[in-house]
Formats: sequence, C-alpha cells, structure tokens
Amino acid sequence: MKLKSIPTLYKGTQFKSRLEADMALVLDRLEIKWEYEPQSFLLPSGTHYWPDFYLPELKTYIETKGIVTPQVEEVMKEFSILIKGVIILIGRGVMVFYDGEEGGGYGKQQVQLNICSKCKKVCFTGMAGSYACRACNYHDGDHDVHELYDENEGINSLKVYVGIEI
Ligand SMILES: [Zn+2]
Repeated sequence: MKLKSIPTLYKGTQFKSRLEADMALVLDRLEIKWEYEPQSFLLPSGTHYWPDFYLPELKTYIETKGIVTPQVEEVMKEFSILIKGVIILIGRGVMVFYDGEEGGGYGKQQVQLNICSKCKKVCFTGMAGSYACRACNYHDGDHDVHELYDENEGINSLKVYVGIEI
C-alpha cells in the first residue's frame, strides 16, 4: 500500500505531507520551537538524509513517516549514531526514540513526554536513557516529577496532552 502525501500549508510553511503539518501543530501546542528541514546529512552508507524537523531548544531531530519500514528504521539508527544525538521517529500511531548520544548507547527506545519542573519546557526523553531535561539539563533524581503520562502511552500521549491524534 502506498500512501499519497498531500502537500499542506501551515503558518506560511509548505509541508510535504499532512503528517508533517500535523507535527508542526503538535510542536506549537507544546510550545516547542522547531525548524523545518534545516539541513541534509550524508550518512556513512552513502544515503543523503534530510530530517523533517530540528528542535533547537531540545537538541532533538524529528522524522515523520506515514509508514515505518525496516529501511527507515535503519536510517534513524545510522543518523543518531552519526550525529551522536537524538532523533524521534513519528508515524501514524508510532513514536520511537533513537539515542546515539555519547555514553548513551541505548539505541531504540520508547518515548516519554516529560515536563521539566525547573524550566517548564515539555520535552521528549527515551525510557531507557537520561531523564534530565533536554532543554536545561535539570534532573531532580525523581522520574515521577517529570512524567506527564504513563510510559505505555507512547504516541497516545500526544493525543491526550495536545489533543491531536497523529
Ligand atoms: Zn528544564
């Protein structure tokens, strides 16, 4: 099955798909700054990869895909290791966190939507990684303070918290 992408205009930006525009709306509702397709990367495998979003405050990339294939997952893994950073893969009903940060080594993880008790920013963290705020690095040692939603909510946390079903 091939899903047809529908170009969608949102806040003056032309997105390649409705899913990308939905994601921009989600990020706006969460008050997270985003940049759309800021730059491309050459992966070690020779693939030119252009991530959909970069979140400068959270030092996090986001890729949106209607259908998540093993090839897409391989690119996510390769990219996170290349940049020694974090990319979140979001599809219809899917949200996965790839962590290539130095010393992280946690790979693919469940995503958790957190709110920082210090800077009050909402951020995404991986279930197996650091619970420190990705905006200000604050970590109070207590996971529960930061959790907005149960770990099993995954993509549903966006629906519950933001009111948008991706
Ligand atoms: Zn913070």
